[in-house]
Amino acid sequence: DVTDTLPREGLSSPSYDWFQTESSVTIVVYTKQKNISLDSVIVDLQDDSLRAEAVIKDHSYLVHVGLSHEVQENFSVRVIENVGKIEIVLQKKESVSWQCLGDHLEKHDSFIQKKDTGLYYRRCQLISKEDVTHDTRLFCLMLPPSTHLQVPVGQHVYLKLSVTGADIVKPYTPVSDSLLSDFKEPVLSPNKYIYFLIKIYPAGLFTPELDRLQIGDFISVSGPEGNFKVSKLQEVEDLFLLAAGTGFTPMVTVLNYALSHMSSLRKVKLMFFNKTEDDIIWRCQLEKLALREKRFDVEFVLSAPSPEWNGKQGHISRALLSEFLQRSSENSRAFLCICGPTPFTDEGIRLLHDLNFSDDEIHGFTA
Ligand code: FAD
Ligand code: NAD
Repeated sequence: DVTDTLPREGLSSPSYDWFQTESSVTIVVYTKQKNISLDSVIVDLQDDSLRAEAVIKDHSYLVHVGLSHEVQENFSVRVIENVGKIEIVLQKKESVSWQCLGDHLEKHDSFIQKKDTGLYYRRCQLISKEDVTHDTRLFCLMLPPSTHLQVPVGQHVYLKLSVTGADIVKPYTPVSDSLLSDFKEPVLSPNKYIYFLIKIYPAGLFTPELDRLQIGDFISVSGPEGNFKVSKLQEVEDLFLLAAGTGFTPMVTVLNYALSHMSSLRKVKLMFFNKTEDDIIWRCQLEKLALREKRFDVEFVLSAPSPEWNGKQGHISRALLSEFLQRSSENSRAFLCICGPTPFTDEGIRLLHDLNFSDDEIHGFTA
C-alpha cells in the first residue's frame, strides 16, 4: 500500500545539501524537526558508499550515495539540535574538487516509515566475552570505525550469524558495561563498543552459535529498533522496573538514564524475578548501587529458591506488586517498565491494570 509509506501529516520531508573544502566534504541534512539527537543518526561508510539514516519520529530519511571519490574511513557526525541540522564531515583521500557527491543508490533522498526501511547490518568484531552467571555472558562488540551508531535507551538491535549457509537473526538489547561506571558519562559510550548480556540456551538455535565465536570473529549488527522513548519518563518521580531473567537488559540503560538525566526522579525501584540466586545477573553490582545511591532500591524474587533463601518467593502476583509499588508521595507521577518472558510480561501488565495503573504509565518491552 503506497499511501502507507507516505509521511504522516505535519511531518515534512527532510532535505540534504553538500559542500566541500580542499580536504573535506560535508553533507548537511535539514531534518525540519527540532529535538534531533546524535542517537537518531546512523551513518555507515562501506566501500565508498555512504548510507546516512536520520530517524525522525516513526520515519526514516536516507542519504545513500556511491561517493564520486575516495574518502578516509573516519568521519565525524554533528547534530545542531536547536535547528535540527545534521552534519557529516568526510575527509577526502585526495584534495581534488568533486563535481558531484556521487551516484544515487537505493532509496536515496527518501522519507519513509521506519518499518519499511528494512534492517541494515554492519560487521562488528567480538572484543571480549565474560561470564556473568553460569549461563549468561557479557559480550563486547566493536563497531567498525566507518560506522556511527548509538542505540537509544531501552531499544534493541538484531544480531545475525550465518550458520551452515543460513542466516539466523535474533533481537538483543545493548547494556552499559557495568552499573557502577560514572553516571556523568553518556549512557552508552558513543560509536565504538556495544555491550550485551546474553543467556546461552544449550538447546537454542542462535545462542550456542554465538557462544562459539572466538575473540576477533565478526557478527552482523542491525540498526536500533523498538518503541521505548525516554520522553515517556519526563517529569516522572517514581520509576518502577519489573524484570524477569534477561528481561533485565532494557532496565540497564533505563536505570542509568534515570539516575543521570531525570531531575524529577525521587525513587527508582527494581523488582528482579529469577529462578534461583545463581541466575541473578549483576546481583553484586545492584546491591552496591543500592547502597551508594539513595534513590535506588532493588528486591529479588525467586521462583525456585533453595531452602536457605529468606527473601521474596514466587511468580509475579498482585500481593508482591501492591507491596512493591509504593509511591514516594501520594500523588507522585509514576511510570513502570516491565520485561521478561511473554507470560510474565502479559500477567504483569494485567495485574498493573487491576492495580489502577493506566497504559500511559506502563511500558512493556516486547518483540
Ligand atoms: P531458541 O532456539 O529460541 O530457544 C530458546 C529456549 O527455548 C531453549 O531453551 C530451547 O531449548 C527452548 N525451545 C525452543 N523451541 C522450543 C519448543 N518448540 N518447545 C519447547 N522449548 C523450546 N536475550 C538475551 O539473552 N539478552 C537480551 O538482551 C535480549 N534482548 C531481547 C530483546 C527483544 C526485543 C526480544 C524479543 C528478545 C530478547 N532476548 C534477549 C531473547 C533473544 O532474542 C532470544 O530469544 C534468545 O537468545 C534465545 O535464542 P536462541 O535462538 O538461542 O534460543
Ligand atoms: P527464566 O526462564 O530464567 O525466568 C525468569 C523468571 O521469569 C522466573 O523466575 C519467573 O519469575 C518468571 N517467569 C518465567 N516464566 C513465567 C511464566 N510462565 N509466568 C510468569 N512468570 C514467569 O527467564 P529467561 O530465560 O531469562 O528469559 C527471559 C525472557 O525475556 C526471554 O523470553 C526473552 O526473550 C525476554 N526478553 C525480552 C526482551 C524484550 O522484549 N525487549 C528483552 C530481553 C529479554
